[in-house]
Amino acid sequence: MFKKILIANRGEIACRVIKTARKMGIKTVAVYSEADRDALHVEMADEAVLIGPPPTAQSYLVMERILQACRDTGAEAVHPGYGFLSERAAFCEALEKEGIAFIGPKVRAIEAMGDKITSKKLAKEAGVTTVPGYTEVIKDAKEAVEIALEIGYPVMIKASAGGGGKGMRVAWNDNECRDGFERSTNEARSSFGDDRVFIEKYIEEPRHIEIQVLGDSYGNIVYLGERECSLQRRHQKVIEEAPSPFLDEITRRAMGEQAVALARAVDYQSAGTVEFIVDSKRNFYFLEMNTRLQVEHPVTEYITGLDLVEQMIRVAAGEPLSFTQDDVKLKGWAIEARVYAEDPFRNFLPSIGRLVKYMPPKESEVVRVDTGVYEGGEVSMYYDPMIAKLITYGATRDRAIAHMRDALNEFFIRGVAHNISFLAALMVHTRFMTGRISTNMIAEEYPHGFHAADAPHDDPALLIAVAAFLHRRYMDRAAQISGQLLGHESTVSNDWVVLMGGQSYPVHIDPAEGGYDVDYMGETYQVRSDWQFGQPLFKGTLNGTDICIQVERRDLHYRLFHWGSQADVMVMSPRVAGLQALMPEKAPPDMSKYLLSPMPGLLTKIAVQIGQEVKAGEELAVIEAMKMENVLRADQDARVAKILAAPGDSLAVDQSIIEFE
Ligand code: ADP
Ligand code: ADP
Ligand code: MG
Repeated sequence: MFKKILIANRGEIACRVIKTARKMGIKTVAVYSEADRDALHVEMADEAVLIGPPPTAQSYLVMERILQACRDTGAEAVHPGYGFLSERAAFCEALEKEGIAFIGPKVRAIEAMGDKITSKKLAKEAGVTTVPGYTEVIKDAKEAVEIALEIGYPVMIKASAGGGGKGMRVAWNDNECRDGFERSTNEARSSFGDDRVFIEKYIEEPRHIEIQVLGDSYGNIVYLGERECSLQRRHQKVIEEAPSPFLDEITRRAMGEQAVALARAVDYQSAGTVEFIVDSKRNFYFLEMNTRLQVEHPVTEYITGLDLVEQMIRVAAGEPLSFTQDDVKLKGWAIEARVYAEDPFRNFLPSIGRLVKYMPPKESEVVRVDTGVYEGGEVSMYYDPMIAKLITYGATRDRAIAHMRDALNEFFIRGVAHNISFLAALMVHTRFMTGRISTNMIAEEYPHGFHAADAPHDDPALLIAVAAFLHRRYMDRAAQISGQLLGHESTVSNDWVVLMGGQSYPVHIDPAEGGYDVDYMGETYQVRSDWQFGQPLFKGTLNGTDICIQVERRDLHYRLFHWGSQADVMVMSPRVAGLQALMPEKAPPDMSKYLLSPMPGLLTKIAVQIGQEVKAGEELAVIEAMKMENVLRADQDARVAKILAAPGDSLAVDQSIIEFE
């Protein structure tokens, strides 16, 4: 076994690999860019080597820097994680030349699978069902239309070198096909430096289901069940689960056996993933093979009980697999949610900044948090905006979902925008809960983006009872503190009014053992908790059921977060509440007629003119927020009345840029 390995990656995946190496008694070397000096993976590793400035092209993607770090530290093997150099055949080759093991497959497998056209041909030869289509390079838009007509619309135009959801377009007619060809070609050229595109049938109501395979250097290859990754936004996975709620035993086996056949065709060693697209009749078609550890591998680890990183390391060290296909048993259900630094309420704009507060849920048998950040750390503009992966497990799918809901309630992040509300809303969406998902579900269910109304709280009484508890505890403590004369103790009233969402709710609060009983509308809510003032998480029970609510005290009110929704509540005496009702309501200014800057940044372009009619989705302006270009688009059809900022302006968050009529 290796004594020391280097991890050529950063973030959660670097931390994930270090954990397993440590468990196996292997020393670890981290590499880091100048932006990652204080990163978690650097702290966790036994040694760390600086490999360059922040941009990935000058650090994490520079093979020679990594090779030098191996030489300097005497690392015997390299785990590439995912992304970065993980699927670069040349990197694998360069390591082999130096006698350093690549913890992944062999050069030939990476090469064959790295290209979508080549891999599709190979798959066909290996007897794997592929998406009907044309597996040659398309010359021009005219040829694209001819082929699309042959295949039959809708079709998908794809970059052969594509990855990460880039370089693909769906076309439903000749015009879209011509346009899609140009766009895919351009995107492929700029993203991958390779503009070859091909066309295949677009599978409608598709599900993305992938098979995990694992092979060793003795020709043993097994499949470890599937992962359903159909919940995607713009072809990027958001929620993954294992097993798939859609597969039956026969389809699972057929897919597994085809995946193994393909892996065998390229002498696959290590962990790899064969992705399939599955139609509503359970016909499945090969999409691509990812020759690396996949982001969503933890769900497979939960249901198989295997540590995939450990398996990869053992295989790379020359050990044979210690089990056979018959030993692989899938048990229970696991779900992964990707927690991103992006604002779901602002069209998922990426957010960067310092994690002022970062408290992930507590890990347990059923909750796993894979993260690469810590409180006080920074989410940098240079890298992937993933904050963490939250994975939960249960004996059944419903249990796994319930654990996920609870864990999301506990996940406390402040300082950068995050998508927890969105994830929580997905967890209670009927289509998700009943397993009727497809890769289009998010686009279909949130056609105009995600809004607070998409995450309503289904039990306002719960929020009212907790608000009553918070305030009463505060008042009781205040009464204790203010130096009291015997016989003159200040007493706290039992009658209060909770104000929430413009409504007032009278409550009666009685102290009880370990908390309070809150009477509201003839019902008694027993709220119990040892919550103390200032704690961000209110953990306790409501009528005996565990609850966890995030609490922020803001001036006169409390802001509560629960099940993905946010509520501002005030608690006051009936008299004050009565007066409050008489206060003239200060309506928030109507900002719907303005285009506001969603983040601080540099305005680089105004794409419209005064008087111009714009259509929903049309580009309005471009903001460069620390080297990332963010295109601001129209939410709805409108006419430009005024332009309030000019290119070159440095914008504050929420600053108005354009006023509409
Ligand atoms: P797929 O490639 O099929 O979308 P994944 O969801 O596992 O599968 O991975 C998403 C892609 O995004 C990866 O191929 C990887 O190239 C890229 N990616 C994700 N996270 C990172 C990261 N931290 N660093 C670099 N690349 C990343
Ligand atoms: P990438 O390398 O970018 O991951 P994939 O070929 O794996 O590219 O496709 C990514 C996603 O695009 C799939 O998960 C699926 O949602 C969608 N997709 C790809 N090909 C098709 C197709 N032929 N029909 C329908 N959807 C597709
Ligand atoms: Mg893919």
